[in-house]
Amino acid sequence: MSIPVNRNPAARVYSTWSRLLARSWQVGRRERCLVCSARVALAAGGLPGLCPDCAGAMPWSRHACPACALPLPAGEAAQACGHCLRQPPPLHACHASFVYGFPLDRLLPGAKFHGDLAASRALGEWMAAGLWRHLPDDAWPQALVPVPLHRARLRQRGYDQALELARPLARRLRLPLRDDLLTRVRDTTPQSRLDAAGRRRNLRHAFAVRDGVRVPAHVVLIDDVMTTGTTLHAAARILRRAGVARVDAWVCARVP
Ligand SMILES: [Zn+2]
Ligand SMILES: [Zn+2]
Repeated sequence: MSIPVNRNPAARVYSTWSRLLARSWQVGRRERCLVCSARVALAAGGLPGLCPDCAGAMPWSRHACPACALPLPAGEAAQACGHCLRQPPPLHACHASFVYGFPLDRLLPGAKFHGDLAASRALGEWMAAGLWRHLPDDAWPQALVPVPLHRARLRQRGYDQALELARPLARRLRLPLRDDLLTRVRDTTPQSRLDAAGRRRNLRHAFAVRDGVRVPAHVVLIDDVMTTGTTLHAAARILRRAGVARVDAWVCARVP
C-alpha cells in the first residue's frame, strides 16, 4: 500500500520544521519602519520599508493636472489646470507619485540632505510601483534623465538625490538611465530662497546638454520635489533645444 506524500510522517515533520525555519528567518528579517521606526516585517505585503499604518497614510497623488501635476478635484483632472492652459509648460506631461505632506515630509529631507540611501531606494521603489500600474502605453520613454546637481553642490552633499531615485526606477521599469546627457553648468542659489521671477532668472543657462551625445526622441526628467516647476522647465527647454522631441517629468512629490 502506498502512502500519499502529505500523509507521510517524515514529510510532515520536515514541513513543520521548514515552516518554523521560515518564521525564524522572517523574525531575523524584521527592520524599522522608515517613517515611525516601529518594528516591521520586511515587505509585509504593503510598501517595502513601511509599517502598515505609515503605508496606509502615504499621500498618493490621485487627481492632478497632466501638465504640471498640481492636485485638482477629481472631475477636473482630465485636462490641464488654468495656469497650464494660459501658459503651456515645456513639459509634454508631468507626473507626481505623491502630494508633498505627511508622512513623506519625514523621509524626503533625510534622503536629500543626509544621504539616507535606504529612504531614497524606498522612494524610488514606491514611485516605480505606482507608475507600473498607471502609466499609459504612450508615456513610456526611451530614457530616464535625473535632474543633475552642480559639481560643487555634489561635492558638498556627497550625494545626488535625483540620481538615487532614478536608479531603482530604471531598474524596476527596465528603462535606460542617462545621467550622461544633461549637466548643470552653473551653481545656482537654492530655489527655495527666491520668488517666481528670481527662480527663472536664477536658472537661465544653468543646464547644458553634453557635446557630441546623441539624444533620444522621448525622455523623462526625474526629480525629488516639484514646487513651481521652474527647475524642470529650464532642464526641459535645454533638452528640447538639443533635439529631444518629447520631455516629460516624473517627480516623487508635488508641493500643492
Ligand atoms: Zn511606520
Ligand atoms: Zn497645470
